[in-house]
Amino acid sequence: MSNFVSIIDVKNYVGQEITLGAWVANKSGKGKIAFLQLRDGTAYFQAVAFKPNFIEKFGEAEGLAKFDSIKHLAQETSVKITGTVKADDRSKFGYELDVTDIEVIGESVDYPITPKEHGTDFLMDNRHLWLRSRKQHAIMLVRNEIIRATYEFFNARGFIKIDSPILTGSAPEGTTELFETDYFGQPAFLSQTGQLYAEAGAMAFGKVFTFGPTFRAEKSKTRRHLTEFWMIEPEMAFTTHEASLDVQEAYVKHIIKAVIDNQSYALNELDRDVTVLEKYIETPFKKITYDDAVALLQEHQADNDYEAIEWGDDFGSPHETWISNYFGVPTFILNYPKAIKAFYMKPHPTRDDVVICADLLAPEGYGEIIGGSERATDYEYLKAKLVEFGLSEEEYAWYLDLRKYGSVPHSGFGLGLERAVTWITGNEHIREAIPFPRLLHRLKP
Ligand code: ATP
Ligand code: MG
Ligand code: MG
Ligand code: MG
Repeated sequence: MSNFVSIIDVKNYVGQEITLGAWVANKSGKGKIAFLQLRDGTAYFQAVAFKPNFIEKFGEAEGLAKFDSIKHLAQETSVKITGTVKADDRSKFGYELDVTDIEVIGESVDYPITPKEHGTDFLMDNRHLWLRSRKQHAIMLVRNEIIRATYEFFNARGFIKIDSPILTGSAPEGTTELFETDYFGQPAFLSQTGQLYAEAGAMAFGKVFTFGPTFRAEKSKTRRHLTEFWMIEPEMAFTTHEASLDVQEAYVKHIIKAVIDNQSYALNELDRDVTVLEKYIETPFKKITYDDAVALLQEHQADNDYEAIEWGDDFGSPHETWISNYFGVPTFILNYPKAIKAFYMKPHPTRDDVVICADLLAPEGYGEIIGGSERATDYEYLKAKLVEFGLSEEEYAWYLDLRKYGSVPHSGFGLGLERAVTWITGNEHIREAIPFPRLLHRLKP
């Protein structure tokens, strides 16, 4: 089967006879002509079978039988299909296959996902099949491109990818969202973040990034939260937060540009307006302080239905949605109150109540896609913080060591891959940004 041509490459075979291995995504036609929409994972393509050609090639009886079998191919039947590639402006793809022979490889009986509309629950139950649709294919192409561009960006800048453990004994972001499991008689947790390990990596190798699955027992049903999601967490030694913000902006612009340059097919398939994305590459990201963001939300409270907010409150999704719509470009919210952020963030040099950090909110109402900060470097400060946050000093002794042996200013951030995919594809819900989403009531398939 290795001699099959991929659909994405058919443009190189105009006028030639080729053989494809593909699935029948859809079919139409009547009388003497049958159209097959084929997919092979690289792209979609239309094949056309013409009855007189079959009779001419195979004789009356066999030719008719072959043509008839094409007309009755069920959706998702896998086929070996041979034909001549023709340039055709009328076809969306620009080319068509003029079928000369076809052989069924695997039958498909009563495929449940038909071209008609289905409800979300039904599609989620059939996620293993739903992935075969044009839209899901396009989303996964974008996801794959973002991953590729992530490695490209950080490798080009001298970052080493390190892998942080998934099973951990500690819980830096708080215990309510932790999945706990038994580890030979002692409690273990599925990692919520690789950050503390990334910090150890930065002290060892200078600039590192982790990229792996992270887990949070999110009980809320929002369109932004999965219980298992993938995070990219760069960490940089000898780096201020200011410099980290520049890396974040360059990185986000890089992945958007990569998707525009290399996945125009997918963006087109998803009806994503490329000019909107191009604007984010061309425009500097907005920066405002948490203080100003709260003031702005209060000022516009009367015209909106988000909950009233006081200085010190964390933003809910509706607040983030509003802010990110208001500015229309990716927006950094700087310096949140110390009390609502993680214990390891660096305190502000002149203000006691805020830490040096930022969330990056994606525009168009997509909310937070990055959380980042400069990290506290002082041993005694961090030790006191652990106590204050009710975390075990013994558990974090290794982390405190990083401040004991050559502590340096360092900063880092975490970008949620599925948040980025959802935004860049212009999708509504995060569940379609990962092949097999894990949600509050969804552990299968
Ligand atoms: P949120 O405020 O949206 O709950 P967070 O502040 O809890 O997010 P962080 O701990 O800052 O999230 O994690 C870093 C990044 O990981 C976030 O900016 C986001 O992109 C992503 N992320 C966090 N939680 C989830 C989740 N449950 N599902 C998908 N992505 C997530
Ligand atoms: Mg959260
Ligand atoms: Mg947040
Ligand atoms: Mg955050």
